[in-house]
Amino acid sequence: MKLSNTALLQSGYFINNEWHTTGKKFPVYNPANGETLIQVSDAGVQEAEAAVAAAEKAFVTWSVLPAKERAAILKKWFSLIVQHTDDLALLLTSEQGKPLEEAKGEVQYGASFIEWFAEEARRVYGDVIPSPMTDRRFVTIKQPVGVVSAITPWNFPIAMITRKIAPALAVGCTVVLKPAEDTPLCALALAVLAKEAGIPAGVFNVLPTMQAVEVGKVLTTHPVVQKVSFTGSTEVGRILMQQAASTVKKMSLELGGNAPAIVFEDADIEKAVKGTLASKYRNAGQTCVCANRVLVQRSIYPAFMEAYTKAVAALMVGNGVDKDVKIGPLINQDAIDKVERLMQDALNKGAEVLLGGKKAAAGELFYEPTIITKCTAEMDLSHEEIFGPVSAVYIFDTVEDAIQLANATEYGLAAYFFATDIAKIWRIAEQLQYGIIGINEGIISFAEVPFGGIKQSGFGKEGSMYGVDDYLIVKYMCIGI
Ligand code: ADP
Repeated sequence: MKLSNTALLQSGYFINNEWHTTGKKFPVYNPANGETLIQVSDAGVQEAEAAVAAAEKAFVTWSVLPAKERAAILKKWFSLIVQHTDDLALLLTSEQGKPLEEAKGEVQYGASFIEWFAEEARRVYGDVIPSPMTDRRFVTIKQPVGVVSAITPWNFPIAMITRKIAPALAVGCTVVLKPAEDTPLCALALAVLAKEAGIPAGVFNVLPTMQAVEVGKVLTTHPVVQKVSFTGSTEVGRILMQQAASTVKKMSLELGGNAPAIVFEDADIEKAVKGTLASKYRNAGQTCVCANRVLVQRSIYPAFMEAYTKAVAALMVGNGVDKDVKIGPLINQDAIDKVERLMQDALNKGAEVLLGGKKAAAGELFYEPTIITKCTAEMDLSHEEIFGPVSAVYIFDTVEDAIQLANATEYGLAAYFFATDIAKIWRIAEQLQYGIIGINEGIISFAEVPFGGIKQSGFGKEGSMYGVDDYLIVKYMCIGI
């Protein structure tokens, strides 16, 4: 890994704008070839407590800085990230595996949240509420909630961080971040640039750690922490919610998904193929908004499957730094084991392999772009996240069947469907129990729009004009006159 700016590769933990090291370290691997990229400090409970204390102290001054000044610093951070796109993308591909072009896209996408929330920082308005009394007047103001802890996953090692940190910092909160153990390097690089941008000491602290449970406990139970923002599995989200209950913290949870991509008989096949492909195979299928179930109406099935299979078969597998690669490695051995388990279960229950269906030759953690058909609700992959490059295809007959099938899950993050009849589109969009709906489109995330699920996919919105709300409290003042 050859970075132009080698200072972006850090291995310590970051508190009070200073780099520290611990005696205990853990390796960060390149999933494409198993090489150790670097040994990183393993921050523990003590370090987590120190980080919270630093954030508490920094809150006193950061929270009262005029929003315009916070915004100026965030804009500088945004510019620095954009300026270092190539290095950050290389770092990202090296620790996470996604193709370099996708990694560059993530750097831009991640940076866009900082730009957006720098702009939003200055538009946090309160209200003047008409009073029913002659001798009282009512006003609300919005204030930062306080010290925030953020726990983030490995599938978007930059964007999942900026999507939380940017709104928090913009409105005046200070943050302690625990990035995923597989991908701490991007988080540390972001800290380098945050300091360079002028973010004051203690405002943004980063704890790489292998001790997720112990550090997670501090971040979800410490009385100083007022808000926990988590992106990850529903299983861990439940644990964190329980932990945070002891001190009644405000929370945002972006949890798992089980996205259906539904191809109706009136779909434009080209759009359906393009959209399903983009949603399913992005990041080798490792996103919570990836199409987990491809539902196809019987009459369009032959035509759609022919075009879709051709498109999936053309996806090149390999090391993400190599040209034209579209499918990188999965993140680790557990991910490969999970895909293999779900595949075996589906095949045992009657699914058939149309394409792929096994590990790829490119290396230990690579899986072939795969399509399996004859999938049913009894299979584990119909209710678990596959998180790999496997399209599970189901056939349905009527619109009602499709909606029933699509909603038959505890999750409610993203859903996609492809159709052309406008009245039908509107009705179906209303009936799908999901927080995000892609219609004739597979790429749906932008800084300007609200990302977030319903049901057991969690709550809270990231991005958009709603994204600041999760980091604000509304204070009401009653003024006697
Ligand atoms: P995934 O299945 O995508 O790895 P996880 O929910 O396991 O999702 O992990 C997402 C983030 O949650 C990571 O940063 C991980 O270290 C962290 N994490 C996992 N278990 C816990 C826990 N018990 N307490 C706090 N953080 C945790």
